[in-house]
Amino acid sequence: MNIILLGPPGAGKGTQARRLVEERNLAQLSTGDMLRAARTSGTELGKMVAGVMDRGELVTDEIVIGLIREQLTNDDGANGYIFDGFPRTLAQADALGNLLAELGEKLDRVILMEVDDEALVARITARSTCANCGEVYNDQTKPIPSDGVCSNCGEKAEFTRRADDNEESLKTRLLAYYKQTSPLVGYYYAKGDLSTVDGLQSMDDVAASIKVALP
Ligand code: AMP
Repeated sequence: MNIILLGPPGAGKGTQARRLVEERNLAQLSTGDMLRAARTSGTELGKMVAGVMDRGELVTDEIVIGLIREQLTNDDGANGYIFDGFPRTLAQADALGNLLAELGEKLDRVILMEVDDEALVARITARSTCANCGEVYNDQTKPIPSDGVCSNCGEKAEFTRRADDNEESLKTRLLAYYKQTSPLVGYYYAKGDLSTVDGLQSMDDVAASIKVALP
């Protein structure tokens, strides 16, 4: 099964993708995580995209399509993939459709996670992540454990904030979402692939709504 999680930054795509990995044995493909990993390991690609990412703009279609192509063609995909943060433009959506067709695969569902803009800003400026396992924390709703031990991986970990999780970058990221990514809502609706879930519900309720929407 191949699923896209679509929605603005802070909608909870990463969190729900991680749950689906565990529950359905799917592989998570997050272009944001791949690009951050390239930056951490100091590759040429990482250096090239650093400024663009920190400003909250989109990196080129060519780069992200290349990353996804590499993953899909080098990996047997187990039970399928969850695309998290990809595609973000119509060109990327077309490329993904072509890639899946080349591999004899298809897209099973696109889940749109709807969250209003004010809630996004509040969520993103309060979030931090376990550097060890990627578990997401929130200053208000899920604070970092006082003993510094991650509730997910059980390790004494560092909890980091993303460089682009600040109000300035967030404005640019939201604009990029509305200008470049939101046309995908109509695109997948017209193809009959879209299901919408209320991303403002609790994490468990969002997961339950996604479950209902999946084939
Ligand atoms: P994310 O973790 O999905 O919020 O992505 C973080 C940043 O990586 C974005 O703000 C973009 O700069 C870049 N990025 C991630 N995925 C894509 C994509 N599919 N297309 C273009 N840029 C991307």
